Amino acid sequence: MTSPGRRSTALFVSDLHIDAAHPAIARRFLEFLGRDAREAAALYVLGDLFESWIGDDDPDDAQRTVIAALRDLTNHGVPCFVMHGNRDFLIGERFAAASGATPLADPVLLTLYGERALVMHGDALCTGDRAYQRLRATVRDADWQRRFLALPVAARRALAGAARAGSRAHNAALAPAIADVEAASVAAVLRAADVATLIHGHTHRPGIHRFDVDGIARTRVVLGDWYDTGSVLRWGPDGFELVRVG
Ligand code: MN
Repeated sequence: MTSPGRRSTALFVSDLHIDAAHPAIARRFLEFLGRDAREAAALYVLGDLFESWIGDDDPDDAQRTVIAALRDLTNHGVPCFVMHGNRDFLIGERFAAASGATPLADPVLLTLYGERALVMHGDALCTGDRAYQRLRATVRDADWQRRFLALPVAARRALAGAARAGSRAHNAALAPAIADVEAASVAAVLRAADVATLIHGHTHRPGIHRFDVDGIARTRVVLGDWYDTGSVLRWGPDGFELVRVG
């Protein structure tokens, strides 16, 4: 039996932060991949699929399980797209080959069911956090990445652990407004792309925000994290809805 809505909805998720230390998140995501995602027109993962990614050469068991499930999904005929987040920006070609997922640039302009949407991870919009933006520029530099990836796995793991601890301390000290996207930066990217809709994650503040820029109605859809339940944007021919799963 084929239901009428089959494969007519694109699904967006982000900020799963899959990690061996939090098996419930991986279980929730694997259930979603085996159920909802199999009926989807496409799956878009907008960054931070993994809590940490130190290179394609050393996935742990939790990461391997997710890669295998993405491979099942893409083999089943559901296209899957994966964008870098601030935790897993070193996801590369070997991950893509193993999972069958296609890398997605940040930002990227998508056209879905006749509607255009600008799609980002979201960290680039948090411009109030100057220290983070400097760090982002450093670690997105091709030379820095080449040097990091040339280090032994143990050294990379140690550095990533130290970076996560530093990030936790930095974020704990940030004012809530600084940790969120900056309105002027949101307006700037919408204006530059000449688009009414922005979809992103990263802030873990799910919601649908409606506002004007230059007298034009705009919508910003923010995906949530997967810590307690899953957050999914369903985008179909009749519009979109942000739902909780699992
Ligand atoms: Mn993030």
